[in-house]
Amino acid sequence: MIYDVTVIGAGAIGTSVAYHLCQKGFSVALIDHGDIANGSSSHCDAVALISDKAPGLDTQMGYASIQHYGELAKTFSYDFEYDRKGCLYVCETEEEYAAASAYAKRQASDGYDMHMVDAQTLQEMEPFLAKDLLGGIWTPGDIAVCPYKVCFAFVEEGKKQGLQVYPYTHISRIRLSADHAVEAVETDRGDILTKRVINCAGVWAPDVGRLVGLEIPIQPRKGMNLISEPTERIVWHKVMEFGYMMSKFESINFRRNVSPLVEEYNVAFNIEYTKADNILLGGYRGFRGFDVRSELEAMQAIAERGIRFYPCLKEINCIRSYAGVRPYVKDHLPIVSAVDTIPGFYIAAGHEGDGICLSPITGKLMAQLVAGEPTDFDIQKLSFSRFANAQQTA
Ligand SMILES: Cc1cc2nc3c(=O)[nH]c(=O)nc-3n(C[C@H](O)[C@H](O)[C@H](O)COP(=O)(O)OP(=O)(O)OC[C@H]3O[C@@H](n4cnc5c(N)ncnc54)[C@H](O)[C@@H]3O)c2cc1C
Repeated sequence: MIYDVTVIGAGAIGTSVAYHLCQKGFSVALIDHGDIANGSSSHCDAVALISDKAPGLDTQMGYASIQHYGELAKTFSYDFEYDRKGCLYVCETEEEYAAASAYAKRQASDGYDMHMVDAQTLQEMEPFLAKDLLGGIWTPGDIAVCPYKVCFAFVEEGKKQGLQVYPYTHISRIRLSADHAVEAVETDRGDILTKRVINCAGVWAPDVGRLVGLEIPIQPRKGMNLISEPTERIVWHKVMEFGYMMSKFESINFRRNVSPLVEEYNVAFNIEYTKADNILLGGYRGFRGFDVRSELEAMQAIAERGIRFYPCLKEINCIRSYAGVRPYVKDHLPIVSAVDTIPGFYIAAGHEGDGICLSPITGKLMAQLVAGEPTDFDIQKLSFSRFANAQQTA
């Protein structure tokens, strides 16, 4: 058999791409060298937000993806814990409050449901928050999902439409024809003949790219979370400090009033509860290669920042921590694109801290691209050719 499409990588992006291609009637193989959700999609938080997106295309994609999650939650028989919990950004200083107000105003003028709430409303919404906060941004439409269950849901729903899954399958070569078009994926389980390959390998997409001589500019950007013991409810929404935006977007020139440890580890407070009654406390951004060991000082910084915003966390035990890597692209936009120089080769990777959020819309856009249909948005800005120095080395 010759597959229409072979998707490499069974994370939130690859599983969604595979599912949406099956929906369009393509025959699809999904390969991973581990299990489903082997990579970043099982080492992350669980939210899909517009409130952490840059205005414009970034927010537009986030919003469309969140709406799409709502539809999938109604139609899928696999429960991926869709929860419309909303997101609250809290401000510590006048300067932050002014920056948050400008951001919320801009997003609201683009038609998104996002507005400022005052200090008293914060306390009513989240009574365990520190009492000295000035207010924040409330985005009621933001949601949470269980990220690895999202991957399994796409796979299970895709299988109903013929999706073939190859877990624990190691790729040795992507074979191209004499005219440089995709022909087969050679693996330790035999050759998979295919007309197209979509590289959805997240932070490992550069390795897969090298198999066909491409340099893909994605770097691993580490994150870490602390997990509490199961506890009584102390938090009702996704809650983050507005300073998170400074931690995510280096271009925002703004210094927070934080300790040297918090500054050093680029820690920005965010918290959420899980269905198992634990608390997830993040988060941190650092470039440490592929090292996903927990770092003691980073854990201390996350705890310090958590207690600053939820003083009662001091009384709750941390039972473990975990780290993962985000597939970081310098311009903070993913690559969702064909590769002009290799007919049949596509990339859907580089979603940094937004891959869970952008999973449904990325799958939909990629399926439209492969089918030769108009895409829901102009995705020129997501093209691989935008990287001036992305060059073929073979
Ligand atoms: C601490 C932390 C918190 C985060 N919180 C959020 C959040 O709340 N919301 C959000 O939207 N995003 C969040 N993210 C980002 C999110 O985790 C990623 O953007 C997303 O998981 C990327 O999905 P992916 O499918 O591209 O990559 P992955 O999930 O890494 O999937 C890639 C897959 O490719 C496979 N693979 C790699 N190389 C090969 C190969 N050669 N052959 C075969 N298979 C291969 C891997 O095994 C893996 O399964 C967070 C990230 C971190 C680290």
